[in-house]
Parts: sequence; structure tokens; C-alpha cells
Amino acid sequence: MSEQFDYIVVGSGSAGGIIAARLSENGKHSVLCLEAGEKDENYFWSKIPAASAFLFDDPKANWRYWSEPHERYGDRPLYVPRGKILGGSSAINGMVYVRGQKQDYDHWAQLGCTGWSYEDVLPMFKRMENFDGGEDEHRGRGGPIRITEASKVTPFYDLVIQSAVNLGIPRNPDYNGGDQEGVAMAQGSIHKGRRQSTAVCYLEPARGRPNLTIQSGAEASSLIMDGKRCVGVRYQVRGEAREARAGREVIVSCGTINSPKLLELSGIGQPEILRQHGIDVVHALPGVGENLRDHYAVLLKYTITQKDVSQSDISHGWKFIREGLRYMLFRKGFIAQSMGAARLFFRTREGLESPDAMMALIPYIPILENGERRISRQRGLSMFAHTQRTESTGSLHIKSARPEEEPAINYNFLDSAYDRETNIRAIRKARELMATPPLSDVIGEELEPGTDVQTDDEILDYMRHFGQTTYHPIGTCKMGRDPMAVVDEKLRVHGLEGVRVADASIMPTITSGNTNAPSMMIGEKCADMILSDGT
Ligand SMILES: Cc1cc2nc3c(=O)[nH]c(=O)nc-3n(C[C@H](O)[C@H](O)[C@H](O)COP(=O)(O)OP(=O)(O)OC[C@H]3O[C@@H](n4cnc5c(N)ncnc54)[C@H](O)[C@@H]3O)c2cc1C
Repeated sequence: MSEQFDYIVVGSGSAGGIIAARLSENGKHSVLCLEAGEKDENYFWSKIPAASAFLFDDPKANWRYWSEPHERYGDRPLYVPRGKILGGSSAINGMVYVRGQKQDYDHWAQLGCTGWSYEDVLPMFKRMENFDGGEDEHRGRGGPIRITEASKVTPFYDLVIQSAVNLGIPRNPDYNGGDQEGVAMAQGSIHKGRRQSTAVCYLEPARGRPNLTIQSGAEASSLIMDGKRCVGVRYQVRGEAREARAGREVIVSCGTINSPKLLELSGIGQPEILRQHGIDVVHALPGVGENLRDHYAVLLKYTITQKDVSQSDISHGWKFIREGLRYMLFRKGFIAQSMGAARLFFRTREGLESPDAMMALIPYIPILENGERRISRQRGLSMFAHTQRTESTGSLHIKSARPEEEPAINYNFLDSAYDRETNIRAIRKARELMATPPLSDVIGEELEPGTDVQTDDEILDYMRHFGQTTYHPIGTCKMGRDPMAVVDEKLRVHGLEGVRVADASIMPTITSGNTNAPSMMIGEKCADMILSDGT
């Protein structure tokens, strides 16, 4: 026996959580939201912003993938965390809220994604947010996701802002307004010291609706196809095989890693890959799993010579206890916000229309030892600086027909000369910032990469061996009209009926900044298109 719904949304993450909530809002449609993760919006560690460090490799809330090793990044596998919990990666991420630039979306429209220019997506961004800085032509005030600017919990932030201004990077009061360029305190999807995931802001308020079924611990294993029409989903709940039928549509929102995997397991993708794993080809689509992009960066680490500038001073001993109390009583302090609370968006070349690189500054040195993450007692800071619109593309494909097997994630970082050169320029700019007063007055030693890493070749070699992703994979079911596009501008899978893909995987190119806000916007837009089509 199959259960019957109008819509089935597979995945409850940044995009899927919003789609399920919006489609069930008017009460006219029955909606099933399937989520592989067991934990919901009440998961303790997900609520506290600073506890995102614990979620980083928490098997209860994280898929904990690894990429294939590649010589381009030192023959190492790279860690690929992804949320496996109600709210998906929005429930485990760093909560930094960056929409990207007007130019990112206008570029999508130029690529043939009609309806995705900045002017088109702006109402979606405004609809989803409640920005504490107020409403204007660019910002929204009434939406479900509360957005707040981080506070300057140590004098570190004023030093960073002043040094950036002295370096010629202007102060920007709102990088999510019309113009991204400048230095600013990060905005976060945080309200009163609590994470604002899509589970908290969209699904929790929608839970009581009789027409919405949220099924956690339910991992989709394939789509049910009737010829070229998708009619439902097969899934597993704690080892029990189930299926559900969709009278109208299935929306695949499993994220950049799992959406192409689910399509391939369902016989949709490159025929030679499907046949290699004994899967019947239902529909040939060469772009499935291709165009994998992400940001790639190294962490620079410096010591700080002055007391009470670095966050390490308040992260240990009695001062930490005081911070804990401050958080419990007032929901304030560093525990109440994300770790990289200062952001710089800047140009690495003369004559560019908008910033091509970014820097995130962290007021301490993180230590990762034996799987444990903590803040070093050594006074210091760390930062990453990298290109915003990476051009290197990799791929992601199934390794077998078994749904429980991880896909092969093949990044191709630093393949593009543009990425290599822009990353090198961004690192040089970061070093210039450290050498600019007033920050330079408190900076001690460059611990990493270290002063012996100077020439372009040395920096590149260091990047290859010590770089990491910044957890923004996108693009593996890209939207567009070219032969490698997987979905059209309405997010319908090319050549099929009854199935859309809506999550970070549909981005044709990567946005300038973090990818949670754009993924949530994709969720809002998908729901809007479905409801206004009446399909
Ligand atoms: C550690 C980390 C830190 C990050 N920090 C930031 C940040 O500070 N700011 C920012 O903007 N972005 C950040 N990101 C990136 C951002 O969170 C993601 O780009 C965004 O959440 C992607 O949204 P999505 O809807 O595509 O996928 P997700 O939010 O990952 O949602 C996919 C959902 O589908 C579920 N799923 C997958 N497969 C199946 C299946 N077969 N059956 C059922 N359910 C399934 C998953 O469990 C998950 O809930 C970070 C990401 C990580 C992992």
C-alpha cells in the first residue's frame, strides 16, 4: 500500500524545508516531507550558535562525507560535512547570512535562466527574511528567518574594521543591500542567541497543519517512474521499505551531494555510469552530477600580542564560565553568534565591477585534534581569504546501485588559472591587512602559512596541501538550457514530468559568498513557481 499526497518534498534542508512549509500553507494541498535525518528542531546542539563546532562531525546530525583524493589538492580526501537533520545544513552550518551579489543572479539570467535575475529573486530574499536592520528596497522585515548583525564581542573587530578602511576597503553598513563591497560585521541567521534554521522558522510553525506530514528518519532510495513521469518515491524508515505516491509532483531537495545521487539511483543521468552499476536507463541526462563547484581556502593563523583582543582570553577558565552565564541569562556574547563574525568583500584587480574575493576573520585559533575541535589558549586570530566565483568544476557520481553507499565526490579545486591566481591575490591581501595599523600593532607572528611561504608557487603549493572546502558545494543538477543543464528555469527536470530539483545543486555558477541564503531563496522561488503555476 502506498500513501498518497499531492506533493512529496524529499529533503527538509535550506530549500526543502521552505518548500514543504510554503506548499502546505494555503491548506489546499497534501504535502509529505521526507527527511533522512532523525533529529528535529529541538536537537540541543543545533540551537546554540557556538555549538555548531560540535555539529561539524556529529553522526547524529551530519552525513560526514569525504571527497576522493586528488593530486590538485595534495592527494588528500577532503571532509564534506552536510546536515542530516530536520532543516538540513541550515541546522548545522555557521549561520553567516550572505545573499551574494546582484551580478551573480543577473549572470544566471544571462546564461538562460529566465526569471532568476537579481530583480526577479529580490522579492524572494525579502519574503524570507526579518532583518533587524530594518526594511528598505533591498531588505525584508516580515519574513520567518530572523537576521541579526553580530556584535563586537572583543576589541578585535574594531581593529579589523579600521585596518580594512586604512587599506582602502570601505565600511559597508549592509553587504546584503545593493552593494556587497566593503568590511562589515557578519549578519547571521540568529535570533536572541538561537539558530534560525528552516526547521525552526518554517517547519516547526507548520507542524500542526493537517495537510503536512513530516517524516524524519526517512531516506529516499529512488524515485518511482512511470515512463517519463515521476509518480512517487521509495524510501526506507529504519530498515522498513515504504513508498509514497505524488498526485502532482515530487520535489527533490536532497542538496548538492544527494540530489544527483537520487536521480542516478532512479535511472536518470549519464547512461554509461548508470549501466556500469546495473541501473536501467530511464532518462539520459549528461549533466547529472557534473558542474560541482565550491569555495576552497587555506586558514591563515597569527598570534596576537595584546591581552583581551583575541577571543581565546574569554574562551577558557573563569572568563569562559562568565561567558556561559552571559549566554544563559542574556543570550549574548560569543556563544550567541557565529565564529567568523567579520567579513571583507574586496577586489583583487583594478577595474572590476564588483568584489571578486572575500575574507572571513575569526578572533581565535581553532584546534582540531583527534576529532575534537576547540579554541587554542594561544592568543591569536585566523582567517581565510579566497575567490568568490570559483570556475573549477568537478563531478559527483554514484559508486554503486546501493543507496547506502556514499557517492564519489571528485572536486577539481585549483584547476582554473583564474581560481589559482585570485586565491593567491586574496591571500596576499589578507597579509596586507595584517600589516596595516591598528591591527598590525597587536599582530605577533604568522604561524601559518608562515613567512617562508612567499612566491606564487610557494603559496599555490601550500594551498594544494592545506586547503579545505568552505562547505559550499553547488551545481550538480544545474539549471539552464544548454545540453549539460539538468533542470529548466522552473526547476523541472529536462525531459521528465512530475519532478523538480530545488536546492543548491541547481545553481549554474557559485554565488559570491556563503550559500545558505541563496539555497533558501531557491526554496522560496520553487514554491512560488509551483503555486503560481497551479501545477
Ligand atoms: C559545516 C557547514 C557550515 C556552513 N556554513 C555556512 C554559513 O555560515 N553560511 C552559509 O550561508 N552557508 C553555510 N553552509 C552552506 C549552507 O548551509 C548550504 O549551502 C545550504 O544549507 C544547502 O542547502 P540545500 O537545501 O541545498 O541542502 P541541505 O540544507 O543540506 O538539505 C538537504 C536535506 O536533504 C536531506 N536528504 C539528503 N538525502 C536524502 C534522502 N535520500 N532522503 C531524504 N532526505 C535526504 C538531508 O538530510 C538534508 O536535510 C555551511 C554548510 C556546512 C555543512
